[in-house]
Amino acid sequence: MSNPINKVQVICRIRPFLSHEKPDESVVIENETTIRVQNHRDPTKDVNFMFDACYSSKISQEEVYRSKIKELVESVFHGQSATIFCYGVTGAGKTFTIQGDDVNPGIIPRALNQIFANAKRNGGNSQIKISYYEVFKENLYDLLREGDNGPGLPIRVDANRKTFIAGLKEVLINSFDEFRRMYASSVKKRHTASTRLNKNSSRSHAVLVINISFIDRKTNKTIQGKLNLIDLAGSEDNRKTDNNRERMKESTAINQSLFVLGKVIEALNSGASRIPYRDSKMTRILQDSLGGGSKSMMIVNVAPGETFLPDTHKTLNYATKTKEVINKDPVIELVPQNQRIYNTSGHYTTVSNGTQQ
Ligand code: ADP
Ligand code: MG
Repeated sequence: MSNPINKVQVICRIRPFLSHEKPDESVVIENETTIRVQNHRDPTKDVNFMFDACYSSKISQEEVYRSKIKELVESVFHGQSATIFCYGVTGAGKTFTIQGDDVNPGIIPRALNQIFANAKRNGGNSQIKISYYEVFKENLYDLLREGDNGPGLPIRVDANRKTFIAGLKEVLINSFDEFRRMYASSVKKRHTASTRLNKNSSRSHAVLVINISFIDRKTNKTIQGKLNLIDLAGSEDNRKTDNNRERMKESTAINQSLFVLGKVIEALNSGASRIPYRDSKMTRILQDSLGGGSKSMMIVNVAPGETFLPDTHKTLNYATKTKEVINKDPVIELVPQNQRIYNTSGHYTTVSNGTQQ
């Protein structure tokens, strides 16, 4: 599917049941673009949510990468900016998707592999620089800084009116192995810093920035591209479980920044004239890599099964613009034809009884 410039592609991935979970059929991938979810409040109905793509639990890391991510990473070598987010509740598979593990490498190691392969093809004149930071309670922390995580870093605007994080480290990387070592130690640091800040890493956004520059041999011009790979904070509403005041404040800040991100994506995808980038730190920093000719993608991670159903509905409502209610039992004709169902962002779709449109 072609994607008009500015638009943020939204794709959905459901993870498999884990060994301790009891499998059920409450959330299934219906087809390449539709995920079907049982309505937890009304068992006579399912809801179909539509996305640019939907990946079943059987799809491998390699397939996810090849289907959509590879071309996005390639575009960075044409001087573009690109951003990939993983969104979803804790346990839905965000870190698995964006980072993966040793056996199943995710988007980050695959992207770096591709980038170093491209750089080699370019004849070795590419510079690849990495930054890695964390956004927690609207504060920015440098994950590549030695020692403690230091004070929060300020956002500044340069002479070209570009927003940047003042004092953020940028490290030149010469090989994939060098990247792997540096990344492993900063991931470890993310966990220790988390403990010091009295939180767990699922409460912060982790942003890996890869800056690429090289001289195009045909034109002799310097090409610069940027890729942001982002493991977002868990989207669950922590206010329900945490009654401690500090935790309440944290949760509000986390939910607020995810809310703003949702609004920014919605504004970009509906062609709105005002994009509310300035309403949160993360969207302010990402402004030049989100919309405005950049290629962006939100991967919505979903955990299967009945226990996650309320969260799954919230997650999918946040991320989709189109959904339809499906009557499971055609004998029950209580829903009037063509009734409009509104989702949380005010979009509606037409309800059809039993038939998909
Ligand atoms: P999150 O980062 O959203 O909290 P994780 O990525 O840590 O979630 O995933 C939760 C658990 O599910 C982990 O044990 C992870 O290995 C496993 N998992 C997630 N997605 C998949 C997948 N597609 N295939 C196999 N295991 C997965
Ligand atoms: Mg995680």
